[in-house]
Amino acid sequence: MRAVGVRWVLSLGLGFALLAGIILGALGYQVAGLVRSQELDLLQAQLLRQARLMAAEAGPALSTGDPADADATAKDLGRRFGLRVTLFDPAGRPVGDSAGDPARLGNGLARPEVRAVGGGALYGVGLEPGYLYVAVPVEWMGGAAGILRVGEELEPVERAVNRVVAAFGIALAFTVPLGLLLGLVAWAFAGRDLRRLAAGLCRLAEGGTPETVPAGGPPEVRDALRGLGELLGSLRERVDQLEADHRRLQLVMDQMADGLVIADPHGNVVGVNPAATRLLQVRPEEAAGRSLVAVLRDHELAGFIRNFLDGKPGAERPPVFEVGPPGQRRTVQVKVSRTEPTGGPDGHLVILLQDVTEIKQTEQVRRDFVANVSHELRTPVAALKALVETLEAGAIEDPDQAKEFIGRLRVEVDGLALLVEELFELTRVESGRSGLNRRPVDLAMVVRQAVERLRPLADRQGLHLLLRFPADVPPVEADPDRLEQVVLNLVHNAVKFTPPGGQITVTVERQAGEVAVSVKDTGAGIPPELLPRVFERFFKADRARSAGGSGLGLAIAKHIVQAHGGRIWAESAGEGRGSTFTFTLPLGQS
Ligand code: ADP
Repeated sequence: MRAVGVRWVLSLGLGFALLAGIILGALGYQVAGLVRSQELDLLQAQLLRQARLMAAEAGPALSTGDPADADATAKDLGRRFGLRVTLFDPAGRPVGDSAGDPARLGNGLARPEVRAVGGGALYGVGLEPGYLYVAVPVEWMGGAAGILRVGEELEPVERAVNRVVAAFGIALAFTVPLGLLLGLVAWAFAGRDLRRLAAGLCRLAEGGTPETVPAGGPPEVRDALRGLGELLGSLRERVDQLEADHRRLQLVMDQMADGLVIADPHGNVVGVNPAATRLLQVRPEEAAGRSLVAVLRDHELAGFIRNFLDGKPGAERPPVFEVGPPGQRRTVQVKVSRTEPTGGPDGHLVILLQDVTEIKQTEQVRRDFVANVSHELRTPVAALKALVETLEAGAIEDPDQAKEFIGRLRVEVDGLALLVEELFELTRVESGRSGLNRRPVDLAMVVRQAVERLRPLADRQGLHLLLRFPADVPPVEADPDRLEQVVLNLVHNAVKFTPPGGQITVTVERQAGEVAVSVKDTGAGIPPELLPRVFERFFKADRARSAGGSGLGLAIAKHIVQAHGGRIWAESAGEGRGSTFTFTLPLGQS
């Protein structure tokens, strides 16, 4: 503030001084010239008057033709009038001089004033440095007797001019302090207004409104503050609105299930939403600023976007790509669009990644299901057809053969009925339509019942079937028939896949907040890579050996356990080293 003030005062003051100096200088020059010419005119008129008076007196002395007379007269006149007086004869020769011997002067006609009079003028004027001369003709008795010249020093004229110059000089000397004073006064007034303006602006910048800014000051300052206040107010409103919009947009982006990647016109990522970071397995701060290729990590997808940028038409349906690191790859449907350009020739790129992994999987599962059902049906139906054809071809005539074929027909029809029954059951439990008939159930009882039902089968196969459970198994909220179905399936599988002499151990165990039932056998085992798949529909690890099953039992068991809020899983040390199937059920508050 202070520095600005000093600059203000200096520039204003010196500017004023310069202007005043130029005006005063020009004016002084003019006035001095005017005074000089006026003084010269006055002096000249005075000299002319005196010269004429003297010329009347000098006539007789000049007319005698005696230079001694003329010189005496010149000296006498010079003394009396206090001027320098010189007399010349009509031919311009000096004949008398008040300032000394006339002989040392040259011919008077060489001088302009004498020559003018000699040429017939009424008077002549000559200016020499420091002297003004005026010459007039001297007449005596009607004829020209000679020329008289008077001279006077110019000193009084110079003095008058000097006085004028001195006066202007003094005035000039005063312009600088005066200018500074003027600048100071102007600053005092304007500075106060500027400070008021600045204070008001500070108040506005701190969040004040035009109303809260103190009134006062000249109308210009008040108007400026009011205008700026209104401008700031509307700007603030706009910013608030933009911020609200931005927050809303951010919320939408954050909550969106689809991944969103935004890149600048050069293909550098400027933002990713949480869904995109999950899909692409990148951290948002890692993605920002990197190229799309580096963030998307899929060359096909990058190529697709490049084609979009080059304006090449894409496929009709939105294309599908695999993204994410190996092992966590997701299938995404991609839509690329471009925003309106802002500031540059091109707009930002908006890449929408719709996760269609589940849809694809569901589609695949459905296709597999249909294929599996047809496959499972084809074998028994073909067998039935062959049996019926054999019967028709004549076997029916032979009672023994007919009996055997009908027995085999029965086996196939039973198998088909079981498959259809299981399919129906699976569809029911999967769709959640098989309402569970839940009540407090003694799990140990249910397990023992199932084990005892399969004991004759196990005995026939030469297997040891053990059952272990603690004394205090608390009741679980469950559907006892469904639970028995699960245990039957697990134990039946163990019996099916364990060679004679093996052992099957069924254990009920109480754990934190749940009860676990496990069925452990010493049979065929399951290769580790197939473990996660045994609960899939129609899954059979070894199609030849499990010819009796449909591959649906474990899928049904899984759904029943999950419907009870429990978990089920399989473990195996590897092929030929037995397997363990375990399921848990949560313990109710009771
Ligand atoms: P299935 O009716 O064919 O037994 P499941 O769904 O019950 O159908 O079993 C699916 C597949 O899981 C079986 O075909 C078999 O390959 C494997 N499996 C199930 N239980 C065992 C087990 N205890 N030991 C070895 N493999 C088993």
